[in-house]
This record gives sequence, structure tokens and C-alpha cells, in this order.
Amino acid sequence: MQVIRTVEAMRAWSLQSKRSGRRVGFVPTMGCLHEGHLSLVQLARRTADLVVVSIFVNPTQFLPGEDFEKYPRDPERDEALCRGAGVDVLFYPETGAMYAGDHSVFVDEQRLSSGLCGASRPGHFRGVLTVVAKLFNCVQPDVAVFGQKDVQQARLISRMVRDLDFPVEMVVGPIVREPDGLAMSSRNQYLAPAERQDALCLRRALDRVEDLFAGGEREVERLLAAMMEVFRAIPSARVDYAEIVDDVTLEPLQKLDRRCLVVLAVWVGKTRLLDNTLLTP
Ligand code: AMP
Repeated sequence: MQVIRTVEAMRAWSLQSKRSGRRVGFVPTMGCLHEGHLSLVQLARRTADLVVVSIFVNPTQFLPGEDFEKYPRDPERDEALCRGAGVDVLFYPETGAMYAGDHSVFVDEQRLSSGLCGASRPGHFRGVLTVVAKLFNCVQPDVAVFGQKDVQQARLISRMVRDLDFPVEMVVGPIVREPDGLAMSSRNQYLAPAERQDALCLRRALDRVEDLFAGGEREVERLLAAMMEVFRAIPSARVDYAEIVDDVTLEPLQKLDRRCLVVLAVWVGKTRLLDNTLLTP
């Protein structure tokens, strides 16, 4: 595995790989890798000849007061995990290598980013789309793999790829969970032991909706109320949003007559956790 730290070296590698006729797969991450990330590496390997993983804790997607400084970083462990997973290139740029001191161009999406995490974290997706566009220009992948865990992000990046004509095929991998059902996340490390237990309320709320839906319940209000009941039982949990939205437009749905997403962002103590599930009538 090669570790590449500059944009120029990354581009040169990609150019050479593509000239030799090989398909480049790409998994962008912020590091502190877990099995969720590694599942995306396996997916990339299935559709590409070479796999690049990037690790970059992107300052522009954190709002003032968020956890940019304390975001968990463990470069040695991440490097070992990438080697073990058969990654070909670990792209590990310094912040200074990615952003000029006076950078002033951003990618802004106007529709899918207005609700859910976009409403709670204004400016977050502008940072995400900007850095993903930049990383696409550095790595020049044929295929890029993202996780369903951050479903709004995945939909937004697909929209950017379509609307800005990036020649990249998008793949979205399923949510990888801990054995007890908690969606894996680098931020799970923030949870104190009692909070780790409380965090299972997200999965429990989704299970509750899935069960009711399977039993024929189609009233959005009743499904949402059933979820809120689960959260009310957990004093450390504070719901940021719990919604049922169209799988494509991410708009809240009144009638469950098409594929939809149940999307959750819930604070457990000082940690904001995301989860979601798909409902297909
Ligand atoms: P992050 O390092 O949190 O920015 O995530 C990098 C990529 O991994 C994103 O595409 C995430 O959606 C994806 N990801 C994070 N957690 C999981 C998970 N539990 N299962 C599958 N993919 C995940």
C-alpha cells in the first residue's frame, strides 16, 4: 500500500493507473476507521481494480463549536486497517494541502440539503460537497462508495455528480451495525458506558416502525408517535429530528405509498447519532 500525502502525487498516481486501463475505486473517510468503512472498501474492490481510501478530517464541514478539534484521530491504526483490507493507496492529505489560505469557492446544493442534517447543521453539506468535489478531482475515481448510514450525504453527492457531470459511478453500501444493533460510527467513542446502552434507542425506534409498517400501519403520524414513545423512555436522549421522507427528494411524506426513509438524528448526552431505515410498501 502506498501512502500519498500531496494532491500532485495523488493525481499522478491516478493518471498512471487509468492509462494502464485499470478502474479506480474510491472510499472517502474522516478516519478512525471501523467495519462500516471497511465494508465500503470491500464494495469498492468488487467493482474496481484498485482501491483508494482517503482520510481527511475536513474543517469546512464542521460548524463553529462542533467537534472538529476533538474528532477522534488514530493514523497508525487506520493505516494498519487499510493495509489489512488490501487498500492500494491511502490518500492522507494535510489540511494545508487541501485548502489554500484564501480559498473562496464552494459547492452549494439548493434543495436536498435544506432539511434534516442540513437544517440542524447549516453550512455542513456545503463543506461536504466542496471537499468531495475536491477529492474527486484529486483521485479521479471511476467509482466512489459511500455509506447509507449518512443517507442525506449520499443523496446529495449523487445529485452533485449528476448536476456537475462528474464522471463517477456512485455506489451506496448498507449500514454496518454493532452486534447489538447500534450503527457503527467514529463518534460512538464519545459515548460513556451508560450512554452506549441508551444509544440503542435509535435502533429500537426503527425496529418499532418496521414492525408497525409490516403489520400494515401506513399513518405517518402514528409511526412517528410510536418512535417518540421509545425516545421518551430514555432521559439522556434528545431528538434532533425523526422524520419519514421520500427516498429521492428527502421531503417529508404524508402518505406512505412509495419507497421512503425513516431518518433519525438523536443526541445521546453530548453525542449526536444518526440512523435510518428504508420502508418499501
Ligand atoms: P466518515 O468517516 O464518518 O465521514 O464516513 C466515511 C464513509 O463511511 C461515509 O460514506 C459514511 O456514510 C460511511 N459509513 C460510516 N459509518 C458507516 C456504517 N456504520 N456503515 C456503513 N457505512 C458507514
